[in-house]
Amino acid sequence: MAVPVDTQHFLRLEIVAPDGPVYDGDVAMVIIPAVGGEMGILPRHAPMVAALAIGECRVKTPANEWFSVAVAQGFAKVQFDKVIILADAAELASEIDLERAEKAYDEAQKKLESCRLGVADEDDCLDPYVEEKAVARAKNRIKVVRKV
Ligand code: ATP
Repeated sequence: MAVPVDTQHFLRLEIVAPDGPVYDGDVAMVIIPAVGGEMGILPRHAPMVAALAIGECRVKTPANEWFSVAVAQGFAKVQFDKVIILADAAELASEIDLERAEKAYDEAQKKLESCRLGVADEDDCLDPYVEEKAVARAKNRIKVVRKV
């Protein structure tokens, strides 16, 4: 017997970053940037926990509109009709400061280049892993805000 599709059923999405809540509301679908690739979560999804990469979280509202959130690593916990995203950093696309992201990108790229060329000042204590992550965060913010 075919299972009827419940079009009135939504997911509760909570996105929390260290500074506090970033989003809390009902949504129709959320696509998360899991480390293994993007995952689409619909209402009544089986419970799971996924590690998140630096990437874009795409959210479909009950009114069938989409918005994006830049996420910088963390975890997503899915419990049937609830998705909780705990991120190291998360910004709604509409709240991203593009100029700041571009500046952060340039600075992190310069530092990364210094690490690679071995010309970093010892006092800088540069770590290529840290700079790679900073480049990725800035690149992701730029990508997400440019789509708005
Ligand atoms: P920056 O060098 O610009 O601080 P960052 O990648 O080091 O960039 P994070 O450590 O990831 O910054 O984040 C610090 C805080 O600043 C977080 O609350 C994050 O949401 C916020 N944030 C970082 N960059 C931006 C941006 N371009 N627009 C809006 N908020 C930002």
